[in-house]
Amino acid sequence: MNSAKRLLKISEMVHKVVFVLGGPGAGKGTQCQKIVDNFGFKHLSAGDLLREERQKPGSEYGELIETYIREGKIVPVDITCSLLERAMRESGTDKFLIDGFPRNQDNLDGWNRRVAEKVKLLFVLFFDCSLEICTDRCLSRGAAGSGRSDDNLESLKKRFNTYVNETKPIIEHYEQINLVKRVDASKTQEDVFEDVKAAFVDMESAGDN
Ligand code: UDP
Ligand code: MG
Repeated sequence: MNSAKRLLKISEMVHKVVFVLGGPGAGKGTQCQKIVDNFGFKHLSAGDLLREERQKPGSEYGELIETYIREGKIVPVDITCSLLERAMRESGTDKFLIDGFPRNQDNLDGWNRRVAEKVKLLFVLFFDCSLEICTDRCLSRGAAGSGRSDDNLESLKKRFNTYVNETKPIIEHYEQINLVKRVDASKTQEDVFEDVKAAFVDMESAGDN
């Protein structure tokens, strides 16, 4: 193999990541599914990975995770990062949507320490949505039987506080380095996805992927 080909081979192996952030109920999971169907990414929801870990019989962290989730607090990054790294390793693919992470400074520091150098962060997809609409969506999701222990008004207030005080500054950090693509997430699922599509098509035509 000549050196140009070898370089290409190496760059092909680098895992590519899009972080997906936004308030609770902004539509991250819903839109991620559509991105998977249309753009061939693997969806890794940090919240889902934590809920799965919590369910495992005998999990060392089950109780801790449940308490953090109900209280709307952010689980210590080493737990979340280990789950993400394992899921990436086991996926057999190389393009990931990492949904709901990094959502505070501890998450960001842990990611930078453990993973950042090994992957290419393509951009941060930010679903911007008012707290009123987010609340309505989470409460309807709870009423429709989401089974989530945090889709109730009391947990939601805590989740929003965490979002405003801890996650927003992370989004601002990425805005400062021009990595954020913002989408108005208050519209219908279909309309939001039109804007999401535009963000991914832009990336593809910029040759970033
Ligand atoms: N969570 C966490 N670290 C993460 C992602 C999620 O600690 O990196 C916890 C946190 O308590 C959060 C909950 O899991 O409130 C639910 O997160 P999820 O992303 O599933 O909720 P969403 O924001 O999509 O409604
Ligand atoms: Mg979610």
